[in-house]
Amino acid sequence: MRHSICPGSTIGVLGGGQLGRMFGIAARRMGYRVHTYESTPDSPAGQISDREFTGSYTDEAALQEFVRSVDVITFEFENIPSSVIDRLAQEKPVHPRSEVLHICQNRQREKQFLAAHGYPHVPFRIVSSEQETRDGLAALGAPAVLKTADFGYDGKGQQKIENSGQIDISGLAGRKGILEKWVDFDCELSVVCARGTDGQLSTFPPAENIHHRHILDYSIAPARLPEALQREATDIAKSLAKDLEVVGLLAVEFFLTTSGRLLVNELAPRPHNSGHYTFDACITSQFEQQLRAVCGLPLGLPDLLVPACMVNLLGDLWVNGRQPDCSSILRHPNAKLHLYGKTEGRSGRKMGHYCVLGPTVDEAVAEALKIKTELNDATRR
Ligand code: AMP
Repeated sequence: MRHSICPGSTIGVLGGGQLGRMFGIAARRMGYRVHTYESTPDSPAGQISDREFTGSYTDEAALQEFVRSVDVITFEFENIPSSVIDRLAQEKPVHPRSEVLHICQNRQREKQFLAAHGYPHVPFRIVSSEQETRDGLAALGAPAVLKTADFGYDGKGQQKIENSGQIDISGLAGRKGILEKWVDFDCELSVVCARGTDGQLSTFPPAENIHHRHILDYSIAPARLPEALQREATDIAKSLAKDLEVVGLLAVEFFLTTSGRLLVNELAPRPHNSGHYTFDACITSQFEQQLRAVCGLPLGLPDLLVPACMVNLLGDLWVNGRQPDCSSILRHPNAKLHLYGKTEGRSGRKMGHYCVLGPTVDEAVAEALKIKTELNDATRR
């Protein structure tokens, strides 16, 4: 561990959301100090950090103070100008490197990277006018989905197009778009892969993901899929992390098409919502693994200790600003509750999650869904 950043050192985290919060919890548990950089105070990550720096990505003085105060920097979300990462990297190590962020924060660059490196991906066209969208739809075949090339997540900036009469590019607001063929899939899955400073690779067991309104609803591990398919997804994730020279985490989302093909949907160079189950169910969590990777420590074992089902708690449950009654979760002794310290429960906003651990995957899923029904019923009352 010659060049490693040891416990007692300070980790800088760009972004103050729940991914940074859970990273910070893992880091503090191992004796690191955590400094968060976020535009608004009292952020989920800031609440558990040693120091919370409040500033924008153009606030040179705040960025300067932040970078001087830390030993290494990582990030917990993609929408950071890669020029900022380049600037910070002149003073302190930043992992993953800015080129990785630059590719993954823009769907056009991401898709072009996948295509150039021969990874199976969803057929797409880059479009910026109505005519290009029309031509793209004719080439790909309807239905298709139009997405903004940048600043999109959780279905934001996405529009399904059933036929050419429905083409409306106003949502792109003058920006470039990606027109993707609509994929008929049997299921969605994801793999979180870690890569250390020495190139060591480690993957978490694939998660099976169920989305609702384009937002992750719940994740199941182990995925109820054939071994060979899980191995294929894992191999693709490792190969991508290697090709991108990631140090840290790379989450890879896949569609399993109805014809049995795995297609890469999206990449994220950070912890992933579908990897939250690792916090409670694996020997090492994705957050600890990110820490180990960016600090140059040996990676931990990613093995699943117990089947798990993780369910997101969205702001829709916060009726009239009131936190939902969590007793329906807490009375299950094998359910683990995580709340992110957010007070304003907007629709679709990720406020927390719970993870049910079960003797079998089917029992974990059944219990998690029972709790979900109870929570929804209580909200409607
Ligand atoms: P994304 O932000 O691209 O990950 O999309 C969010 C969710 O929307 C995905 O997880 C899918 O459930 C759905 N989705 C996105 N793109 C497509 C597509 N081309 N075909 C079918 N479903 C899609």
